[in-house]
Amino acid sequence: MSFELPKLKYELDALEPYISKQTLEFHYGKHHQAYVNNLNNLSAGTEFEKATLEEIVLKASGGLFNNAAQVWNHTFYFDQFSTAGCDEPRDEMKAAIEKAFGSFDAFKETFTKAAATLFGSGWAWLVVNATGDLEIVQTSNAANPMTNGLKPIMTCDVWEHAYYLDKQNARLAYIGDFWKILDWKVIAKRF
Ligand code: MN
Repeated sequence: MSFELPKLKYELDALEPYISKQTLEFHYGKHHQAYVNNLNNLSAGTEFEKATLEEIVLKASGGLFNNAAQVWNHTFYFDQFSTAGCDEPRDEMKAAIEKAFGSFDAFKETFTKAAATLFGSGWAWLVVNATGDLEIVQTSNAANPMTNGLKPIMTCDVWEHAYYLDKQNARLAYIGDFWKILDWKVIAKRF
């Protein structure tokens, strides 16, 4: 199977001033594209040649896993943003967040801390665990919670390439702006 870079549902400047057009040109246009290219090169001629992206993420290792997971993670990340989004969780999503974290503000605080304190490159995730409850987890590098039986609902990319052009080393400022462009309709649908 040959993989392609998924189209964004918004223009490259649509997330400004929170994520700049320049950041998307690099993060989506260069980094995400490179993971797709690497995935195609590394899967060609292997047992994974006809596998789906999820199958590769769940079963592969090494460079093939890293690139497949980064394709999956970035597609999931870019898809959750909108400028015309719903700025807060509602209904069942809201109830599940309150059940797990007490309040939306407490959830924001805990998730922000998870994203801010992740050492090095990786991702902070909101996931559904085996008992159906929401949980926050961190993963390093390309790792994806699916390989631990968790269902991803939302993610924050804290690799420096996600924010360095806009915020330099200020990861916390990037995470602060991250909350302003989340589309809770998309996230609730995943839940
Ligand atoms: Mn990234």
